[in-house]
Amino acid sequence: MAEFPLLTKDFGTQDLHERAVYERTGGYQGLREAFKRFTPETLIAEVKTSGIRGRGGAGFPTGTKWSFLPKDVFPRYLCCNADESEPGCFKDRYLIDKSPHQLVEGVLIASYALQVNVAFIYIRGEYRDQRLLLERAVEEARAAGFIGKNILGSGFDCDVIVHGGAGAYICGEETALIDSLEGLRGQPRLKPPFPAVKGLYGQPTVVNNVETLCNLPHIVQRGGEWFKSLGTEGSTGTRLFCCSGHIKKPGTYEMLLGTPIRELLEEECGGMRTGSTLKAFQPGGGSMQVLLPEHVDLPLDMNEVQKAGSSLGAGAMIFMDQDTCLVDVSMRLVDFYQHESCGKCVPCREGTYFESQLMHKLEAGHATPAELATLSDICANMDGRCFCPLGDTATWFVMSAYKHFRDEFEAHCNAGECPVKARARERAA
Ligand code: SF4
Repeated sequence: MAEFPLLTKDFGTQDLHERAVYERTGGYQGLREAFKRFTPETLIAEVKTSGIRGRGGAGFPTGTKWSFLPKDVFPRYLCCNADESEPGCFKDRYLIDKSPHQLVEGVLIASYALQVNVAFIYIRGEYRDQRLLLERAVEEARAAGFIGKNILGSGFDCDVIVHGGAGAYICGEETALIDSLEGLRGQPRLKPPFPAVKGLYGQPTVVNNVETLCNLPHIVQRGGEWFKSLGTEGSTGTRLFCCSGHIKKPGTYEMLLGTPIRELLEEECGGMRTGSTLKAFQPGGGSMQVLLPEHVDLPLDMNEVQKAGSSLGAGAMIFMDQDTCLVDVSMRLVDFYQHESCGKCVPCREGTYFESQLMHKLEAGHATPAELATLSDICANMDGRCFCPLGDTATWFVMSAYKHFRDEFEAHCNAGECPVKARARERAA
């Protein structure tokens, strides 16, 4: 097996979504080897050795997360978080579209390690086609003896259930996802207790992202040490990056962690579009802080990007050119978070409302400098005071854009129109 790419290596194979084709490319070998070579305990240790960190946004080490499950408390559950809703992010959809069995295999390997007999794949409501693909893959896997009783003669039983969400961004937050799975309105729960102790139906539960689980067949087959040798010390393996914005070739690219962002932009994405120069980019999706052209030489490394003031988040890179108005982008993102706020806590419910009102006024060129100061004050008072990360992240892009592009924000005050768009119009005339 070639070392890189990993998850997408067979994506050029026709009909890879069919079980027989997936098996011909080596599919389900990871599951067979997991049963043959590992006990649940040694499998958790192997995943810890690999150093893999969650690919959903927070980047918590997966093996450590698994080890938080209390011993001897059963039943316990695994929830695969396929509620991909981060603005700019579409990698989980790509992974499911191309190879749903890779995810099913990852779910089964994790279930074996965690001794879970019922696993759920919670998929975003808007991903109807992908839900159908997964349902079909689960049935194919069941028919082939990979799901059900005494899987491959191992003595291990596991069922996998695909559950479609109703289209709420907040259900990507693990405790809201659990509430939604239980049939409740999807709202975050107070932590602690953490899901590892008290999750689905009050039982120990692990929630893992699609991409995280898709790595497991490869870690089992090649070993944790091998996986650790890919990438950097703090960010092992590869990651899929969804690239969009003013670039020549938008798409999803699997990159070795540690590769410079410039290589992703210039080689995979073909560089900025003709006539476009890079003004700013968001390295982790709509929630993350904006970075500047000087940051494109940073490596794709979670710690390094964090040190620069942002995060690789959910793996979405949005590149913006010289004609992009950062006030406009901020306004659109704030509108998204206001719409998706679940309303449970005041700082987020009220804060995103007032943020949105002020952003619209500013973008239209009608806000005063005092209102701009109020906007900044609202953001500062929301960050760190919300019940869950949604409220905090509703301020991060605005605050970072205001920090790096203060002149642009101030030029909007009492301007009567957006000065960035006016400049672009003049240039085009
Ligand atoms: Fe709901 Fe927003 Fe509060 Fe999170 S921060 S609980 S999304 S209102």
